[in-house]
Amino acid sequence: MITASCPGANFREKMLITHRGLSGPAILQASSYWQWKANAPVTIDLAPEQEWTAPLRNGLGRRDLVAARGALREVLPQRLADQWIERHQPEDWTNRSLELLENAVHRWEIRPIGTEGYEKAEVTAGGVSTAELSSKTMESRKVPGLFFIGEVVDVTGWLGGFNFQWAWSSAVAAAQAIEKK
Ligand SMILES: Cc1cc2nc3c(=O)[nH]c(=O)nc-3n(C[C@H](O)[C@H](O)[C@H](O)COP(=O)(O)OP(=O)(O)OC[C@H]3O[C@@H](n4cnc5c(N)ncnc54)[C@H](O)[C@@H]3O)c2cc1C
Repeated sequence: MITASCPGANFREKMLITHRGLSGPAILQASSYWQWKANAPVTIDLAPEQEWTAPLRNGLGRRDLVAARGALREVLPQRLADQWIERHQPEDWTNRSLELLENAVHRWEIRPIGTEGYEKAEVTAGGVSTAELSSKTMESRKVPGLFFIGEVVDVTGWLGGFNFQWAWSSAVAAAQAIEKK
């Protein structure tokens, strides 16, 4: 479990590192909040609530790259831990440097350069404004007799079935209204 944070939202979920980038529930959730126009960062805590450098800081063990790698392997998958340590080697092994090393894992800031686009999207943001629809029947306020439901409306749910729920519920509401006409 990791925590992915965008301005306005934090998601404690699983993350998947693919050959093309970051994916998985935490990233998909955060992507709905990602302010791509502002090139805003997504901050990732790779080991929430885990003080992984504690074994090095408690003064009992070694303070070197091998010890740091071993400690990080306790909280991250081995290959990720090894790559991370390789790329974040501290200048020295003082308490201050260990603190920076600890924090880097908890505040990994990434600026996505793109998404996999419409082809791979699970939900789409945007669509017909809810302000233009009757919330009871989904009928357009501007064009009587015209109804909008589901994905085409500007409603974006979190993962977990909320988008299906919205699609089905709005469809039932519209269908009942049409039946009565
Ligand atoms: C890979 C994936 C995984 C998802 N997983 C989840 C999940 O786990 N939980 C969840 O809640 N949501 C999930 N979603 C989102 C969910 O599927 C959608 O929010 C929901 O299906 C929207 O329903 P809809 O009826 O509005 O649109 P759609 O299901 O897209 O239905 C629109 C239909 O209209 C048809 N159509 C399009 N153009 C025309 C045309 N010109 N003439 C006639 N027919 C046309 C399409 O073929 C399609 O059958 C997932 C989406 C994807 C892509």
